[in-house]
Amino acid sequence: MNTFEELGLNSQILESIKKIGFEQPSPIQSEVIPFLLNETGDMVGLAQTGTGKTAAFALPMLQLTDSSKHETQGLILAPTRELCVQIATEMGRYSTGLPGIKIVAVYGGEDIRKQLRQLDDTPQILVATPGRLLDLIKRKKVSLANVDTFVLDEADEMLNMGFLDDITAIFEQTPPTRRCLLFSATMPAEIADIAKTYLKEWKEFSVGKRGESAKNIEHLYVLTKPALRYDVLKRILDYNPDIYGIVFCRTRQETKDVAEKLMADGYNADALHGDLSQAQRDMVMNKFRIKNLQILVATDVAARGLDVNDLTHVIHYNLPDDKETYTHRSGRTGRINKSGISIAIITAREKVAIKRLEKSTNKTFKEMEIPSGMIICQKQIIHLVNKMMDVQPDEKMRKFLPDVMEMLKDMDKEEVISRFISVEFNRFLDYYKDAPDLGAAIRKSVREEEAEGGSRKKSRREMRQADKGDSVRLKINRGRHDGMEPRKLLGLINDVVKDRGLPVDNIDISPKFSFFDIKKSQVGKVIRCFESSPRARGIVISEVKGRR
Ligand code: AMP
Repeated sequence: MNTFEELGLNSQILESIKKIGFEQPSPIQSEVIPFLLNETGDMVGLAQTGTGKTAAFALPMLQLTDSSKHETQGLILAPTRELCVQIATEMGRYSTGLPGIKIVAVYGGEDIRKQLRQLDDTPQILVATPGRLLDLIKRKKVSLANVDTFVLDEADEMLNMGFLDDITAIFEQTPPTRRCLLFSATMPAEIADIAKTYLKEWKEFSVGKRGESAKNIEHLYVLTKPALRYDVLKRILDYNPDIYGIVFCRTRQETKDVAEKLMADGYNADALHGDLSQAQRDMVMNKFRIKNLQILVATDVAARGLDVNDLTHVIHYNLPDDKETYTHRSGRTGRINKSGISIAIITAREKVAIKRLEKSTNKTFKEMEIPSGMIICQKQIIHLVNKMMDVQPDEKMRKFLPDVMEMLKDMDKEEVISRFISVEFNRFLDYYKDAPDLGAAIRKSVREEEAEGGSRKKSRREMRQADKGDSVRLKINRGRHDGMEPRKLLGLINDVVKDRGLPVDNIDISPKFSFFDIKKSQVGKVIRCFESSPRARGIVISEVKGRR
């Protein structure tokens, strides 16, 4: 392990790092910082958030910036407003010993006038979302002519959000002499294409293998029947009283439903999804960030803006469709050099998806048993006693003690302890005393399903039925009254999803809504595209459950 001193950073920056409390460079920092300081050439960094990648590019960028020149030398592109703010704030902390370096973040979704004013005195380092940056270039408020380092952070996320054309346009604005640093958690073909088109000879750095993070994440799955998904989630949460985690859901509606049920059941939970206003989202994210909130229920899109990566658990209430989303989600658990747990709640049918994930991520997934009521009660009681042993009694409380002692004088120690514990603990005991053995019930149903599947060949009719079971009906809040018709709906889906090969069936247009079927495997992608595309602004998409 090296030290920060050995990486070639100057004394001012070392001083700031020390003040912040970083003790050792993370693996990506040990490799990238000396390369950026001592060598030339572009680079590709395969690293997720939580690996320390921001400091890996930010510290050398700050060291190499010439504070006497009032021109933009460092440009960092990031997919979301939250990430831009986070990067700029972090760089501000690293540069406290470097007066004269100005760092500005510009992003969409906020009044441009304030940002225009911040640009009056040209910053040496600009952190931006792609759309807003192009807007500012058009207004001649930003020039990229003198950029010497161009960072694309979370490049795969930027592509997911449809920024490819904007990124291409921005590349065209930077001088050919600039150095490009491309960071991405995964390496889909589109990212490789960008690298091939715009990067010169580049060096590749990856923490762990391709698409993996250096963090130590344990990947688990737990079997459920569809109807018991929420009960299984509750067991997982009850078994982990100290959990600080995100429960990922597929749709806004599911996110709301799960969060509401959890809150009603007494958990410290809240929801984060696209139907909230920016102010509401900021409030929830902040509560979660400062750990006033233990469990966040979120859609993938909404969680993008959240810069929390030190979770104890990530729970997939539903499996995502693709490996990239799975990797992003689970990468949020595990702090630098610490471990985390990712748990997917799946039905027996989804076991094949786990096998696929195992292959593509090169990880082993272990099956997790559903904890029984007894084990949960034991875990909760130990947690409660540990909490009691850790607490420091407040001195002010002592003045009430004589009265309390007087009230308890006829009870022995055991009686007092058991009563105090019961105050908190009986909630669990009541819930679990007659609780069924969920694990056994689910195992039985899985065995029956498997036996049924193997014991008879399916008739054609049954196969057609099964095919139908493979598609999902979606609904949007635009119908005939909004001028919707089948061709328009197909055009809208094409524009939003950007996949002309996507099979869309059984279109129905009612006065206020439109309905259509798509393959189950595509649901997550389609919903995500609708929830993030500017073309679908105001459109609410949801799954139609049950019979049509
Ligand atoms: P990132 O991967 O850049 O999103 O960083 C994740 C978190 O780790 C941030 O909160 C950083 O402040 C923190 N961090 C970065 N480098 C180190 C380090 N060497 N030691 C401890 N924490 C770090």
